[in-house]
Amino acid sequence: MIKLKSKAEIEKMAAAGAVVASVLNVMEREIGVGVTTQHLDDLAEQTIREAGGIPTFKGYRGFPASICSSPNAMVVHGVPGEFEVGDGDILSVDVGVTLDGFVGDSAWTFAVGAIPEETTALLDTCEKALMAGIAQAKPGNHIGDISAAVQKVTEDAGFAVVRSLVGHGVGAEMHEDPQVPNFGTAGAGPVLQEGMTIAIEPMITAGTHEIVLADDEWSISSADGSMSAHFEHTVAVTADAPRVLTRRNVPEPAVAVNSLLA
Ligand code: MG
Ligand code: MG
Repeated sequence: MIKLKSKAEIEKMAAAGAVVASVLNVMEREIGVGVTTQHLDDLAEQTIREAGGIPTFKGYRGFPASICSSPNAMVVHGVPGEFEVGDGDILSVDVGVTLDGFVGDSAWTFAVGAIPEETTALLDTCEKALMAGIAQAKPGNHIGDISAAVQKVTEDAGFAVVRSLVGHGVGAEMHEDPQVPNFGTAGAGPVLQEGMTIAIEPMITAGTHEIVLADDEWSISSADGSMSAHFEHTVAVTADAPRVLTRRNVPEPAVAVNSLLA
C-alpha cells in the first residue's frame, strides 16, 4: 500500500533529508587516500546523532553500521570496516537518517584521486540517470516513466542497469511501497500522486547487470568485477515540481565541520 504524506510530514522528511545531506557532505570532505570506511562510519554516526537523528541502517535486519560503504565493483550494502580508500578508487556511501519519525535516504559515489575516463563517465552517467528519473516524478506520471528515464540515460552511455535491486517508497519506514525499478516501460506501473515520497536510486555498472552477494551476506558486487556506481535521492511528488528532500548543494556551516573534525 502506498502511503501518501501530508505537507507537514513532507517537511519532517525534508528535515531528515537535510541531515542525510550533511552527512554526505562530511563524507565527501573526509574521503581520501588511507581513510578507512570504519572511520567514515564513525563520523557519519556522530554527525547523525549530533543532529538529533537515528542512523536508520544500524540494526536494520541486523546491519551493523550507520552507512553502507561500497568501493569499486561493489554496488551496495558494503559493511564499513578496515578497508582503506586508495588513489583511483570510487566509493559509494549510502546514508539513512530517521528524525522525528521520518526517514531520509540518499547515496553518492565519490572518486578518490585520479580515476580512469570510463569510470568518470560511469559516475556522471549515474548522476544524470538519477536526475532524469527525478524529473519524471510528477503527479499523473507512472513509476515506469522514472524507470525508463533512468534506463535510457544509462544504456545510451553504454552502461548496464542492475535489475535485481530497486528504489522504493520511503516515509515513516525506510522501505515502503511502491518499488521503483531502474529499468522498465514508460507509462507502466503505479500512477504518481501528490504526497508520494520515493527513493530513486540508479545502480549501474560498466559491465554486466548481474550481481553477486559476498560471503558476509551483505555486500553486493557486479558479477564481472566491473566498476559500479550508485546515486540516490529521496524525492517528494508535489503539484509544483519534484522536490528533492536530500539535496546536497546547501553549504554547511564551517563551525560545525571544524568541531567535528577536531
Ligand atoms: Mg539508500
Ligand atoms: Mg534506498
